[in-house]
Amino acid sequence: MRNALGLMLASVVAAVLIAAVWFWTASPRVAVAAAPAVSTPPAEHLAAAAKPAHDDVEFTAAIPDKPAAAAPKPACANPDALGVSRVVEIDTTGGPGFGFEHFKQLDFLADKEVVLTFDDGPWPVNTPAVLKALADQCTKGLFFPIGKHAGYHPEILRQVAAAGQTIGAHTWSHANLNSKKLNEQQVKDEIEKGFSAVKLALGAAPSPFFRFPELQHNPAAVAYLGTRNIAIFSCDLDSFDFRKGSTPEKIVQTVMTKVNKLGKGIILMHDFQKHTAEALPELLRQLKAGGYKVVQIKAKAPVQTLAEYDDAMVKDAKLPVSSLRPVASVVQTVAQ
Ligand SMILES: [Zn+2]
Repeated sequence: MRNALGLMLASVVAAVLIAAVWFWTASPRVAVAAAPAVSTPPAEHLAAAAKPAHDDVEFTAAIPDKPAAAAPKPACANPDALGVSRVVEIDTTGGPGFGFEHFKQLDFLADKEVVLTFDDGPWPVNTPAVLKALADQCTKGLFFPIGKHAGYHPEILRQVAAAGQTIGAHTWSHANLNSKKLNEQQVKDEIEKGFSAVKLALGAAPSPFFRFPELQHNPAAVAYLGTRNIAIFSCDLDSFDFRKGSTPEKIVQTVMTKVNKLGKGIILMHDFQKHTAEALPELLRQLKAGGYKVVQIKAKAPVQTLAEYDDAMVKDAKLPVSSLRPVASVVQTVAQ
C-alpha cells in the first residue's frame, strides 16, 4: 500500500517534472517563433516605405499595376494622415453618371467614405496650395480642369498629374452647356476641346471623367458623353466655395455639416478658389477626426480624344512647347 502510494507520488512528481522541462524547453521555442512576428512590422514598414504610396491602400478591383506609371515615391511622412482608404477603378463604357444631386443609380460609397473633387483649375497659387494640402495628408482627389486654364498653365496641371491626382475635364471655356445660346455642335466642341486641351497640356490623355459647368446637365450632352464612353461626375454635396462672401471657415462648416448629415459623398470644391485652398488643411483634419475615409477614383483606361480636336488644339496653341520660356528670359530691353 505504502509502495503503491509511493509509486503514485513518484509518478506525479515525474509528470510534473516532465511538464516543467517541456514547458521550459518549449517556451524559448515559442519565443523564437514569435520573434519574427514581433520584428516583422518594422521590416514591412521599411519595405512599404520603399514602395509607391498607392501600394499601401486597398484596391477594390483587380487593377493591373503599371510599373511604368508607378515611379517610386516616398511613403507618407505624416503618421496621422487622412490618407486613401480605398482606390476604385471605373469602367466608363456607356458614360455612367455619379453624384446623387443628378444621378441615382450608382452608389459606390460606403458609410463614412468621401471623394474629394476640385474644379476650374489649374490656377497659380491656389492649385499648388490644394496640392500641398492633399500631399500633407497623403490623400488623393479628382480634378476637373478647364481647357483654357490648362492652356494658360500647363506646368501647374502637370504638377497635379505628377502628384498622382486623377484628372478629367470640365469643358473648354466653362460654358453652360444647357444654355439655349449653344447649338449641338458648340456643345460638342466645348466637351471635346476641353479634353484635347487637357491632353495637350499634360502630354497624355486624362481620364474619361467629365463635369458639367455649374452642374448644368444638358440631356443631349449626357447622351453624347455616353457614346464617347465618358463618365459624368455630379456631386453629393456642394461646398459652395465659389459663393460671394465665402471664407475658409464657412467652407469647412458647410462641408462638415453636409457630410455629417449624409454620412458620405462626393464633395464638390474648386482648386481655382483661394478660400478653398486655405480651407483645405482644416477641412482634411476635420474629415479625419470625424472618421471619414477618402476614396480615390481612377479610370480603367484614358479618354480617347478625337484627332480633329487634338490637331486643332496644337494649331491653336500660341506657343510651341519648345518656347515655354518666360518672356523676360527671351526678350530683354538692352537700351531705352
Ligand atoms: Zn466649374
